[in-house]
This record gives sequence, C-alpha cells and structure tokens, in this order.
Amino acid sequence: MIGRFILETRTRMNKATRKRFGNKLNQMLSELKEEVTHTVDGMRVGTGAFPDPTDRASLESERNLTLRIRDRERQLRNKIEDALARIDEGTFGNCEVCGGPISDHRLEARPVTTLCIDCKETEEEDEAKLEYG
Ligand SMILES: [Zn+2]
Repeated sequence: MIGRFILETRTRMNKATRKRFGNKLNQMLSELKEEVTHTVDGMRVGTGAFPDPTDRASLESERNLTLRIRDRERQLRNKIEDALARIDEGTFGNCEVCGGPISDHRLEARPVTTLCIDCKETEEEDEAKLEYG
C-alpha cells in the first residue's frame, strides 16, 4: 500500500513542470550567490577602517547585522538545495508531513516550501500555542 502511494505521488508533477520549478530554483540560487558575494565584499571593506571606538561600535553592530543576513542567506540556500534534491528524487511538490500534494499556486509563490497549506496552518497554530501558552 505504501509503495503504491509513493508511486502515485511521485508521478503527480510532470517533467515539464518539474523542470520549470528546477529552473526557477536554480535562478534563485545563483541570485543568492551573487548577493552573498556582495555581502562578503562589504565586510572586507569595513575591517579595521575605523579606529574611533564609537565608529567601532557601529561597525560591530553592522557586522552583526551582516552575519545575520548571511545566516538567513545560508538557510535559504539550504532550502533551495533541498528543493532541487527533491526535484531530482521526484518528491518535489509533496508535503513532507502528510505526503499530500502542495498546490502549484503555493509552489509558484514559494518554491522552497515543504508543507501543504493545511500542514503549514497546523504548524503555525502549534507555534502560536507554544508562544502564547
Ligand atoms: Zn500536508
């Protein structure tokens, strides 16, 4: 039964659609790589340029901000690479929680998503419960 289920979900998305999402994700990835390069360049320029302690403090917070941005970029990059791997496996577009299909509309807007809208909403409800008791 499980084997049959996987087979069915695997064939949900046709080759052309998978390819389209693959191109989109690759595009996102290369744009992200360009941005990362800029960020790294920005950091290099800033290093040691301000001897004044006040400037150093602002430089420090600027660097922290840069690190946070880079961290977010790295996370997004991982997500994109995961999504590309799922395209190769043929599991792209399937919810990782319930195994059901993620709507193309949702994938268009957010190709790195791993959850269908129902599971996403459940997850957000759970998070809200954790946060507010
Ligand atoms: Zn789901």
